[in-house]
Amino acid sequence: MEIIKVDLGDRSYPIYIGAGIISELGNCLKKLPVGKNTLLITNSTVRNLYGPDAEKSLKEAGFDVTFGEIGDGEQNKTLATAGRLYDLAFDKEIDRKSPVVVLGGGVTGDVGGFVAATYLRGVPFIQVPTTLLAQVDSSVGGKVAVNHPRGKNIIGVFYQPGFVLADVNLLKTLPPRELRSGLAEVIKYGVIWSADFFAWLEENIEALLAGNTEALIHVVRESCRIKAKVVEEDETEGGLRAILNYGHTVGHAVEALAGYGKYTHGEAVGIGMVSAARLAVALGLLNISDLSRIEALIRRAGLALELPDNLAPKDLVDSFYHDKKAAGGRLTFVLPLSIGKVSIKKNLSDELIEKFFNQ
Ligand code: NAD
Ligand code: MG
Repeated sequence: MEIIKVDLGDRSYPIYIGAGIISELGNCLKKLPVGKNTLLITNSTVRNLYGPDAEKSLKEAGFDVTFGEIGDGEQNKTLATAGRLYDLAFDKEIDRKSPVVVLGGGVTGDVGGFVAATYLRGVPFIQVPTTLLAQVDSSVGGKVAVNHPRGKNIIGVFYQPGFVLADVNLLKTLPPRELRSGLAEVIKYGVIWSADFFAWLEENIEALLAGNTEALIHVVRESCRIKAKVVEEDETEGGLRAILNYGHTVGHAVEALAGYGKYTHGEAVGIGMVSAARLAVALGLLNISDLSRIEALIRRAGLALELPDNLAPKDLVDSFYHDKKAAGGRLTFVLPLSIGKVSIKKNLSDELIEKFFNQ
């Protein structure tokens, strides 16, 4: 079992990474000053697959387990779902020391984490991410939220977990499309932070797609290490953390315009990373050979490069500005300068953006 530490002062926590380590969940939890009365939040799909393993490990370590099951899918990341979980927590006498363990992908992690952060103003919170996206991204960094009918992740807080346990064996049952989607965020870490990691991905992308255990451990470890570094420097997104949004300005627009569910988040981010890299080339910030490497790796990961044909450039640009308004800030593009280095651009003119996306 490998351990990456996220260093956030008194909110610091470890990320445990390995193959087959779900059996250690209870032992890891025992190290924390928590009570026995545990709420295990998961969704219907993941409960069938891994609920029994998680429950067994917790019970063997002396914890009492109540399952809090939510429906599968983004449409369940709502205040209504949180409300049902609060009812259950109340019924089961969850108190300030009771650990809430969240077993699932980013949807379960976000809504379960939101409940842990807000019930009794915060109870101990553990993340057991079960998708690649959750292991490399959503379980690390402390953002938890539910959606509002008018927008994604509108209602949320920053709340760091007590630990994250990432067992790559759980990824064996992941649908291939979900694995590829997670790889988009992995490729992102290479572009924004590490040329070495990007080069390693170029060597190992096929092994990853085939589910090779060692390769997956490497990817989860390096991704968490990079995300931890960024979050350590900027926990609440005052500055540097914005680099994690590389590919996301266009990505969010593609997701929203195509209708949520048509593209997975990772698929949309893959397209967004290519768009942002092409914009960087057009502005003379990135050389064409680096753009070709980014495009080639995204293609080899089985992800699309091109914006959907039926997407009107005007709608795309409008959507950027809508997003900008929602975020209460300026339109921001994270543009690569080379592989491993990006720049946060907030001062690109509207004319330039419109011209680029209209061509
Ligand atoms: P998800 O949670 O919907 O999981 C994808 C699908 O895989 C679901 O159907 C799920 O039931 C299934 N699944 C999960 N684990 C499985 C396993 N081991 N085997 C088989 N099937 C499994 O989606 P996701 O991509 O993990 O997460 C997306 C969510 O994460 C979005 O809501 C997004 O907003 C959020 N997110 C949050 C952050 C953050 O910092 N908090 C970062 C990125 C994304
Ligand atoms: Mg993302």
